[in-house]
Amino acid sequence: MERTSNILVSSPNLKYTDDFIFADYEYEETLVTKKGDDLVAKPFKTSLCLRTARKVGKVGIMLVGWGGNNGSTFTAAVLANKHQLSWNTKNGTLQSNWWGSITQASTVRLGMDENGQDVYVPMSQLLPMVNPDDIAIDGWDISPLNLAESMVRAKVIDYDLQQKLRKEMATMKPRPAIYDPDFIAANQADRATNLIRGTKYEQYLQIRADIKDFKDRQKLDKVIVLWTANTERFCEVKPGIHDTSDNIEKALRNNEPEISPSTVFALAAIDEGCCYINGSPQNTLVDGVVDRAERNNVFVAGDDFKSGQTKLKSVLVDFLVSAGLKPVSIVSYNHLGNNDGKNLSAPKQFRSKEITKSNVVDDMVESNRIVYQPGEKPDHVVVIKYVPYVGDSKRAMDEYTSEILLHGTNTIVVHNTCEDSLLAVPLILDLALLADLFSRLSLKRKGTEEWTGLHSVMSSLSYLLKAPLVPAGAPVVNALFKQRAALENIMRAALALPPNHQMQLEHKVP
Ligand code: NAD
Repeated sequence: MERTSNILVSSPNLKYTDDFIFADYEYEETLVTKKGDDLVAKPFKTSLCLRTARKVGKVGIMLVGWGGNNGSTFTAAVLANKHQLSWNTKNGTLQSNWWGSITQASTVRLGMDENGQDVYVPMSQLLPMVNPDDIAIDGWDISPLNLAESMVRAKVIDYDLQQKLRKEMATMKPRPAIYDPDFIAANQADRATNLIRGTKYEQYLQIRADIKDFKDRQKLDKVIVLWTANTERFCEVKPGIHDTSDNIEKALRNNEPEISPSTVFALAAIDEGCCYINGSPQNTLVDGVVDRAERNNVFVAGDDFKSGQTKLKSVLVDFLVSAGLKPVSIVSYNHLGNNDGKNLSAPKQFRSKEITKSNVVDDMVESNRIVYQPGEKPDHVVVIKYVPYVGDSKRAMDEYTSEILLHGTNTIVVHNTCEDSLLAVPLILDLALLADLFSRLSLKRKGTEEWTGLHSVMSSLSYLLKAPLVPAGAPVVNALFKQRAALENIMRAALALPPNHQMQLEHKVP
């Protein structure tokens, strides 16, 4: 079920076989060392081979929190696009689309034509990717409503489109889930009636059985498990419990209270060989989970979708700092009225969100030691308030104050209103599709025999995540366009194409 593409790379460094795309690639970097007071920059090259498996297979996605606003809207969007539905509104007839998804609705520069003009192609056409129409969907929720009822409860999808989707979505019912009132807000208790009982270990076994059941029934080659359930409080990370795969296994069997429901889902997914993605801020992916993923050669990614306010922040602060200005105060205020907002109105769950939202400018600040002294950071405050009336339509107000020339100040104020789930859902699709693509990518040094996959902590998905988890010791990149460049250039490398350098010397030299 490979997506058809009309892009053929003509290069002695690329070979297509029935099963793989093989690319020979010179990876170029610059090593910087200190010599006394001098910095010595030395370019170097590493000769690599990249291999992308062409067979996409049948992929399923299991959502934890399937009956929530994101889960029901994701399901509605997949079905609406698959059936190419249109619907009537007071603004006329509208067609389904995937706007907001970088794989489906964004383009990348392939190169230039004979006249030196840029040639852009859909990102989905670069390498073999899953077609969203072919994705099978399943999942769990502590709330028993079927997906049609969940869609009505969410109040996100236009009424006429709801009517067209209702029949099919009514047949979809979330599987019982793991509920621990210690981890999500007390105000969620009234919807928690669709539950897996028993010890944490029994719950883990049930999740594994659910994944197996979905895979067998739908005859899937691969299942990706993604958390889009309510934000949990952070678990209290304890040595001897959360630090290694073996300790976490012991703790799970001992019904240890500080093993969160999301960690149980992650362990079950990893042990079933499934990639696990954390779309919420909590610290599900503790060291023991990452250790387990590495041992099993399975991928994990997180944390927290980077959908609206933070996405803009990681663009704006990058622009300010790279322009030589000094953001000194960043104040972000949100109000929203959906169930996510209700859950976040509890202090411990808000704290999880506050943490992921707070570190998003660190790499940009650290990149410019001309304007910031070592250790200096802007004041950065995040406020979230629950206002039921506005529903899923989140309001975000941000004030950025920067010091400019000769200590003048510049204040930029941004007001952002948007249906929260309509921003998050395309990210869920991209996370699943790119996780699948990168799980089919292997590398080796030229001249060696053994292919290795990417690191189990899939930091290539950082563009889509607010607090990107990276392999131990790797730098965290939050700046959006660096993240995007990494994504595009890794895909280009898999086609033996050089990175897009944006120099356009053809037009700059007489
Ligand atoms: P929601 O409250 O509408 O949906 C969450 C669903 O999870 C609910 O149906 C709830 O019953 C279910 N749930 C709670 N605990 C569960 C458990 N242990 N197992 C299974 N199901 C469980 O929220 P939403 O608006 O869909 O957002 C989902 C998550 O995504 C939130 O944590 C939110 O912070 C995160 N997020 C959303 C956005 C966005 O929408 N733009 C951005 C970043 C992060």
